[in-house]
Amino acid sequence: MTDPTHPAQPGRRMQPETPWSYACGRCGNCCRDKDFILTPYDVARLAQGLGLSTSQTMARYVDPSRPTLKTGPDAWCVFFEPGQGCQVRQSRPAICRLYPLGRTVASEGGIVFEEAEPHPETKGRYGMAGTVADYLQSQELGPYLEALSLIGAFLDDCFAVADRAGVLDQLDAAVFAYWTGEAGPVPFNILGQDLLAARTPFASPLDQLKAHLEALRPLCGLDVPPRDQPALRDDPEGRAKIGRLVVTGAVFGVGLGLSPGFSALQP
Ligand code: SF4
Repeated sequence: MTDPTHPAQPGRRMQPETPWSYACGRCGNCCRDKDFILTPYDVARLAQGLGLSTSQTMARYVDPSRPTLKTGPDAWCVFFEPGQGCQVRQSRPAICRLYPLGRTVASEGGIVFEEAEPHPETKGRYGMAGTVADYLQSQELGPYLEALSLIGAFLDDCFAVADRAGVLDQLDAAVFAYWTGEAGPVPFNILGQDLLAARTPFASPLDQLKAHLEALRPLCGLDVPPRDQPALRDDPEGRAKIGRLVVTGAVFGVGLGLSPGFSALQP
């Protein structure tokens, strides 16, 4: 249901201080027929909430070829129980907490929040009782947004190196193929486990994400300033090699292979 005095405005872009509010009507319509896209941080939080390792969480609840939650009969999210609702409410992913907002990087720079198209039968109520920032706070999105910023900054660095190495198109295609599932299952567990075994235990899922991204930087050539990287500037063979590494590293950065053998609860 939408309030006729404050109807949903799909596509409307808002800042944190913009007056806006949304009250969930517990209809569950937002929990089906969607791509519930996950970040590595979402998987770590789910794992923590479920008392599982991240690899167990991925095996049971994540689509094997796409970074999305599995869905059950009639396209309901795997965690949705009819009549009861979300079974992982305390550890639900960022995409669920944000709904009906999306988080977008504006072309002029900075982050904006955009209203999604409401489900035609939604019982959620839109209004002006607070601000976008109030809504984000009520959904306890702080660490989720920090995780998204960390991943975004890592990807920005990857794209800058890929640009210098002349493999921007390759990087674009590789990340796109991963998100859409065209790349097929990627064996993150094997690399991730080696990468992070020495860094456990983690104090929190956010520390887990930071360790994951830090461990990837030297592998991608992100820790060396361009002026100290003659291979990037002068040597086509070296550039091609760094290019290949950064393409792989970027996919591992957004991929769900976050310290897969471990969780913050089960180091
Ligand atoms: S995780 Fe919970 S809130 Fe998110 S789609 Fe699944 S059931 Fe709905």
